[in-house]
Amino acid sequence: VGPFDPQDPDFQYLAVDRKKMLKEQTQPFDGKKMCWVPDEKEGFVGAEIQSSKGDEITVKTIEKQENRTVKKDDIQQMNPPKFEKIEDMANMTYLNEASVLHNLRSRYYLGMIYTYSGLFCVAINPYRRLPIYTESIIAKYRGKRRMEMPPHLFSIADNAYQFMVQDRENQSMLITGESGAGKTESTKKVIQYFARVAANIYRESQKRGHDGGPGESGAGKTENTKKVIQYFAHVAASLQKKSGDVEEKKDTKKGNLEDQIIQANPVLEAFGNAKTVRNNNSSRFGKFIRIHFGPTGKIAGADIETYLLEKSRVTFQQPAERDYHIFYQLLSGGLKDIKERLLCECDPALFSFINQGALTVEGIDDVEEMRITDEAFDILGFTQEEKNSMYKCTGAILHMGEMKFKQRPREEQAEADGTAEAERVAFLLGVNAGDLLKALLKPKIKVGTEVVTQGRNKDQVVYSVGALAKSIYDRMFKWLVMRVNKTLDTKAKRNYYIGVLDIAGFEIFDFNSFEQLCINYTNERLQQFFNHHMFILEQEEYKKEGIQWEFIDFGMDLQACIDLIEKPMGILSILEEECMFPKANDNTFKEKLYANHMGKSPNFGKPGKASKPGLPAPHFELHHYAGSVPYNIGGWLEKNKDPINETVVELLSHSKEHLVQTLFASHDDPADSGGHKKKKKSASFQTISALHRESLNKLMKNLYSTHPHFVRCIIPNEFKQPGVIDAALVLNQLQCNGVLEGIRICRKGFPSRVIYSEFKQRYSILAPNAIPQGFADGKVVTEKILLALQLDPAEYRLGNTKVFFKAGVLGMLEEMRDER
Ligand code: ATP
Ligand code: MG
Repeated sequence: VGPFDPQDPDFQYLAVDRKKMLKEQTQPFDGKKMCWVPDEKEGFVGAEIQSSKGDEITVKTIEKQENRTVKKDDIQQMNPPKFEKIEDMANMTYLNEASVLHNLRSRYYLGMIYTYSGLFCVAINPYRRLPIYTESIIAKYRGKRRMEMPPHLFSIADNAYQFMVQDRENQSMLITGESGAGKTESTKKVIQYFARVAANIYRESQKRGHDGGPGESGAGKTENTKKVIQYFAHVAASLQKKSGDVEEKKDTKKGNLEDQIIQANPVLEAFGNAKTVRNNNSSRFGKFIRIHFGPTGKIAGADIETYLLEKSRVTFQQPAERDYHIFYQLLSGGLKDIKERLLCECDPALFSFINQGALTVEGIDDVEEMRITDEAFDILGFTQEEKNSMYKCTGAILHMGEMKFKQRPREEQAEADGTAEAERVAFLLGVNAGDLLKALLKPKIKVGTEVVTQGRNKDQVVYSVGALAKSIYDRMFKWLVMRVNKTLDTKAKRNYYIGVLDIAGFEIFDFNSFEQLCINYTNERLQQFFNHHMFILEQEEYKKEGIQWEFIDFGMDLQACIDLIEKPMGILSILEEECMFPKANDNTFKEKLYANHMGKSPNFGKPGKASKPGLPAPHFELHHYAGSVPYNIGGWLEKNKDPINETVVELLSHSKEHLVQTLFASHDDPADSGGHKKKKKSASFQTISALHRESLNKLMKNLYSTHPHFVRCIIPNEFKQPGVIDAALVLNQLQCNGVLEGIRICRKGFPSRVIYSEFKQRYSILAPNAIPQGFADGKVVTEKILLALQLDPAEYRLGNTKVFFKAGVLGMLEEMRDER
């Protein structure tokens, strides 16, 4: 490792002092005897082989000195001590699960949360604030190559930036992991890094007299000037508030572009994050943030795409979980006059949509968070009116949960049980209360060419109120993203972008439904992208080295499962077809699935029993690359159709509230150029799965046009504890997130590579008689050594500048060398 000083305190939690470490290793190491054996608690423990008999091997564990008998196949080889706490696991002699786990664990115990595994950067959530994101550390990583510095997210980010500038190519960073693994924290760090670095570069280029282009005056200022401006903005804002000036004076509170990109996050988190059992600040949506850079390397704009907001949470939460943060922020009383504005008491316990689980979160101060959200809106240039409208819509949802209905005696017709709440809802949504109730209780539907009213019973009305609440929230979230994008879309010239993807990883729960299928399908595509990328890189390297090796695209391994999900007559197509069919139900859906795939598609199978007593049994099983997942299809048709009361939609589209009107406006078909306005039918009839597939295709198209960088976040334990590794949990994630898959692919090829001159120097000792006298070319010598050792030709390849080996061969050569 290169030009950094391991004694520098900045690197305390980033790098090992390798020289010192090797000096301290005094225990002899016998590579033939040392190994890893499976252990229930630790995953694997180190052991020494004592004896073997057939397939059984007796070992003594190192730490506890226990004798154990294990199957030969269950033993994994141990790497020599010089690989201890290695920065890039691809360099290990023995690439196996046990060694990967051991390496990650021993680094993590020292606070080193980042480790490379070939193309991956693995990051384990530290659950404590480590001093590894300081200005000083940012400066040290700036402009360095990956291999010169200890592993860090900043290194990946900086390299992406360097590649973008050098190769004139878009870049992407794919950050995945399960809930609580640290994806969003990582995303924030990366974006802060870009904001900081791009601003510095711009400053440097200005000093050198480059032209920064139009509209780019903000970031050139020193940190102090920035602070002063912020201060004045603050003062101006508070004066404005005091004077009761509702209409915002243009640009007084607005931040510069870097600030705005950073401040997009609190706003998205307020509306899209919630406390879950796993994570107190869990993102309930996926996002892809692109930062566009201009000709001088300065940030020129940004845009955000979001995926699959969890709508069900708006009206339903598990015990110990919360609804979206914004509800509790608003009710915290942190904003002035909010009681009057939302027509309610500031107490979340009073509202049944949001009081089903926890009401407060340890470590989250909703009053303070409300202030942060509100200020972020200001920096993003939202007007007071826009903010107000969003708060009112959110308030309307709260009141919707309190609307009461009762059944008319002897009639299949519901009626309002008190109208006070309906009046509040109607007021906040800008419609007439009587019209709203009528639309909910007796919606109009089209029968042929006639429009008739349809009676609704109590259950149906309550259901449609919930669906409406969810729909308002979902549309509001999408609008919010669109509005933020409007701010981040400067007219500055854009050259290339770096996109950062923060999206949930593979999910295998006790109970898996439609949402899991969508996210697992997404991950299947992302893994395919990774495999394909790795294949391309390998292919290029082999070609450059003139090596003959025919191999298939690794990405194709996943194609069968992807086809099964997305192709015509695949699972999603069948689901969508059933959604169009009025008489379809869960059973007809299941029958169609079975008829088309059972026994015909290898990735489709019969499920086992429910994994826990009391849970509904699954209906089918999919064999994903990460493992087999049993899915239960209950309610998929409804979830996917996501029907809402069209009469209410019509009413809301004529709301007096500008925002509500926008959210429910019917789009005119742009394709219809005939002059007469026709409603775009497909939009309202698009299923969730079809929309998701469309946006996923767009994402993949984007990603395939970038140079990707992969970050894999790992949750160390389920108790949010620092310094604790749950081995089984970590191993499972390494399986699901493709790190082990990456190693498996690696082993298919020739993962170890040594430059000829180096090989000659190090291994000539193995075949002294084979070495020609006098000067000899490294390649010639290498070939002679390998022939003399009678190595199987399938185990190596001779390239133009290096020799390539199959996994494990180099370890064997090392052992032979040690024996000399
Ligand atoms: P979800 O899928 O639920 O959104 P996530 O992967 O985005 O999960 P984060 O919200 O990023 O997870 O992280 C969960 C928590 O872990 C954070 O709130 C923070 O407390 C802690 N954490 C994560 N990464 C770091 C880090 N690098 N340093 C310190 N704490 C961290
Ligand atoms: Mg998150």
